[in-house]
Amino acid sequence: MELSPGVHKVEGVRGANVYLVTTEEGTAIIDTGLPGNEKKLLGYAAKVGVQPAQISLIVLTHADIDHSGSAAKLKASTGAKLAVHAADAPRVAGEMKLKEVKGGMGLLMGVVSPFMRFTPVKPDLLLKESDTVLGLSVVHTPGHTDGSISLYKEGAVLFVGDALRTDSEGKPMLPPAGFTADMDLAKESIRKVSALSYGLLLPGHGAPGRGGSASLAAFVASGFR
Ligand SMILES: [Zn+2]
Repeated sequence: MELSPGVHKVEGVRGANVYLVTTEEGTAIIDTGLPGNEKKLLGYAAKVGVQPAQISLIVLTHADIDHSGSAAKLKASTGAKLAVHAADAPRVAGEMKLKEVKGGMGLLMGVVSPFMRFTPVKPDLLLKESDTVLGLSVVHTPGHTDGSISLYKEGAVLFVGDALRTDSEGKPMLPPAGFTADMDLAKESIRKVSALSYGLLLPGHGAPGRGGSASLAAFVASGFR
């Protein structure tokens, strides 16, 4: 589904929202879903006229398996560079463990199969605050994980990964408490991005945000309610 010119939400991906973004500088995939989503993703890209070799960048908003799960295969089949914040890179590269996913949260995330194994992959680009990738600014938004990032195009769009989520109506919500490393820090990060100006808020989980930046500012002003 094309949400705004050049910004697609890839349909049918399991685990998390995946976005396909084309700017003047190239085409990127933001997050990859759980393991096993690469065919769905490339199928969607082809449907909207994007061939694998045209995808030059895969950006992970953070290391969690529902976002990084298909990164290794996707990188292999596109030749795209893989970008992640330096603080989450060791987890993607397999040098540190991914967050444990089990019990109820595992069920919630759809990680129920023992065959759903994470394939580590070495990132090509280690991102930090104020970097720019394909015309999108990197905003460090830690809390859910140390290396969580948001991506921002002024006046247009804010991708937040799991810095926050939205409900099915697009209303902002905090990230899940049991699955967020530091909730106070996560709130600070939400406060930080709530000062930005954009029309479209795109989370890792939930519907596209309603009401642009004003809606997130109101969420913060209300004490995150
Ligand atoms: Zn997630």
